[in-house]
Amino acid sequence: MYHDIWMVPVPLKAKIMVSLTIRGRLNTKDLLASKGAQIAVVCILCGEEDETQTHLFLKCQWVTRIWASIKFRLCIVSDPVDILSLWSDWRHNAVSCQKKMKWDIWACAIL
Ligand SMILES: [Zn+2]
Repeated sequence: MYHDIWMVPVPLKAKIMVSLTIRGRLNTKDLLASKGAQIAVVCILCGEEDETQTHLFLKCQWVTRIWASIKFRLCIVSDPVDILSLWSDWRHNAVSCQKKMKWDIWACAIL
């Protein structure tokens, strides 16, 4: 399921970050705290919620504005509930929409 990441024509650092995110291994503040780091876990963007992967990439008020402006171009029809479902929906829509460009846009959005 994750092998598609390596086929997207974007820099390796973007592929690695997406791979870590999908597998829930990106070092967001909540994950660092669970590993023993003595840090405040509050989101640096909004200051209202803990910085989890889901919050940082999908739920933060700053990020939802970005998603609202690009999700049509990416053929995303519903609001994603988590990173894995976003990736799954995206893969499905990428095939059905026959628009390779959305893969590129998605990767740029992550950068
Ligand atoms: Zn936030």
